[in-house]
Amino acid sequence: GPDHMCRQPSTLELSPDEQLAAEETFKLYCKPVELCNVIQKRALDNPAFLQRCLHYMIQASRKKRIQLTVSLSRGTNTDHNIFPLYVLLATPTSDSIPLEGHSPIYRFSRACLLTSFTEFASKDHNKATFTIPDVKNIATSRACNLSIILIRCVSDSEGQVGENNCSGDHVEASALRKLEGKCFWGKIPINLLGSSLENCVTLNLGHTVELASTVTMNPSFLEPKFLEQDSCLTFCSHKVDATGSYQLQVGISVQEAGARDMSESPYNSYSYSDVPPSSLPHIIRLRAGNVIFNFKYYNNTMQKTEVTEDFACAFCLVKCGSYKGLGCHLNSTHDLFHFEFWVDI
Ligand SMILES: [Zn+2]
Repeated sequence: GPDHMCRQPSTLELSPDEQLAAEETFKLYCKPVELCNVIQKRALDNPAFLQRCLHYMIQASRKKRIQLTVSLSRGTNTDHNIFPLYVLLATPTSDSIPLEGHSPIYRFSRACLLTSFTEFASKDHNKATFTIPDVKNIATSRACNLSIILIRCVSDSEGQVGENNCSGDHVEASALRKLEGKCFWGKIPINLLGSSLENCVTLNLGHTVELASTVTMNPSFLEPKFLEQDSCLTFCSHKVDATGSYQLQVGISVQEAGARDMSESPYNSYSYSDVPPSSLPHIIRLRAGNVIFNFKYYNNTMQKTEVTEDFACAFCLVKCGSYKGLGCHLNSTHDLFHFEFWVDI
């Protein structure tokens, strides 16, 4: 903080008297900071509301998430009867051994409806988006047996699940109860994606990784009884003619999704495409939250500079989680001073 800034040499040429006067004005920063540090120490056990919020944000932003967007392209799919296609993020229930001729019982957390290829702009209904835990933890986490399940119903009732039951691309579980009957279904196990993504460096830089998956859609019978409770479903292959399976080429774009506030950080909107790889670590450090503080003093004619990391406050070294969080902290905690903020990239 300002303690060690006080020892920095001044760059302007001043007479000894002027230098002394200048240092006196700079001390205006040091006094309130001492008081602030005392208050901060007292508050360690019981942090103020803003500090608790910022701490939570930091924890949340470190929890990485992966966003998957599932879509189908006209160019790679020649089959005519692909839509409507339901896309579910599901996991087999652990306590069930599949019955003869049945798939495991899947519990799904989110269901989307696709009605067209990506090329056709029907806005909401050509993409299905899911958020899953970070791929690096997939092998060890509960998420390892997550699957993306694709269902196309061929029963008479298929027309009944329409726009009324969808908000955006999301389908209400109650609407899925009508899906009972003959269908085609296939699945993409998430851990297969995990192995393709594990060594993917560009994902960390905010890039989107495009994967392609071939899914075999098998004829089956969707059993409704489990839909009534707990958003569960199972597929039975006994009740249908087992011929006529077909393949879908599914595109999956994968993106890292941190906490909202981190992704809105001005440093994250910077494009890395024309940066030589050797300087990437430096850039990433910048992105991770270096902040330059310029302390103006002596009627704003002089300036001392300090750089902090992790969006930390230069007065009390509290980590603020984001540029916005730092702004809130400075204005509320150090309101004796006047602040100007700008982003320099
Ligand atoms: Zn502070």
